[in-house]
Amino acid sequence: MITKDYHTHTYRCKHAEGDVSDYCEAAISKGLTVLGISDHVPLPDNRWSGIRMDMSELSGYCRAADEARRLYPRLRILKGMECEYDKKYAAYYQDELLGRLNFDYLIGSVHFFPCREGWRDAFWEIKDSNDLRLYARHFIATMQSGLFAFMAHPDLFATGYLKWDSQSKECSAEMFEAAASLDMPLEINAGGLRKPPVATPEGERPAFPLTPFWEMAAEYGIRVIINSDAHRPSDIAGKTDEAFVLATRCGLAFAEI
Ligand SMILES: [Zn+2]
Ligand SMILES: [Zn+2]
Repeated sequence: MITKDYHTHTYRCKHAEGDVSDYCEAAISKGLTVLGISDHVPLPDNRWSGIRMDMSELSGYCRAADEARRLYPRLRILKGMECEYDKKYAAYYQDELLGRLNFDYLIGSVHFFPCREGWRDAFWEIKDSNDLRLYARHFIATMQSGLFAFMAHPDLFATGYLKWDSQSKECSAEMFEAAASLDMPLEINAGGLRKPPVATPEGERPAFPLTPFWEMAAEYGIRVIINSDAHRPSDIAGKTDEAFVLATRCGLAFAEI
């Protein structure tokens, strides 16, 4: 059973419900010992502002986490953020969040990746091997920044790229090689198991986790962290037992932060 959940969101990101204390109550009722709060980070240039907190909410977010630590001393509460990487945000993440504001950890996450025309959505816009290569390249650059404790849903590309073929294997291998050399844990995100399944030429499967991706991860000795990616308090630990079965079946080792 999973007793630690490091990936949860609050109402501030505009597509989640509940505040830190609601997640604490849910975590305690489900027997968790560690709860990481990791809402979508506000960005200094307001990029992608529709799906993240505003900069003006940052101090209230920190206060909510600090207050929860006082109210729920038996739960280990970690203050984190889920972050997109761009070189221009590196000093903000390092000096402001990890430095001055004392964040416990940051999650590296690739929901968007740069291409020639700007940025592309990693959820739905990866359709061909070129997109896949750009995604993998940005995923690796995110890991190499050294800012992040682990990487969220590396197999997110599988929501749009439906085949497990030589191209997706090659890109996955590059991501695993980099993760292994950096000793970077990768997240098995149970949130994908709570989404509607996607239809592929081989039949329906979960959006993610992508089973053959994680079987391959085991060959590279990748260490994993299983999280719910809760966007409602009732999502806490949701489907993490299924993700645990997958990880165990693949023979993956577990990481902690
Ligand atoms: Zn979200
Ligand atoms: Zn995410």
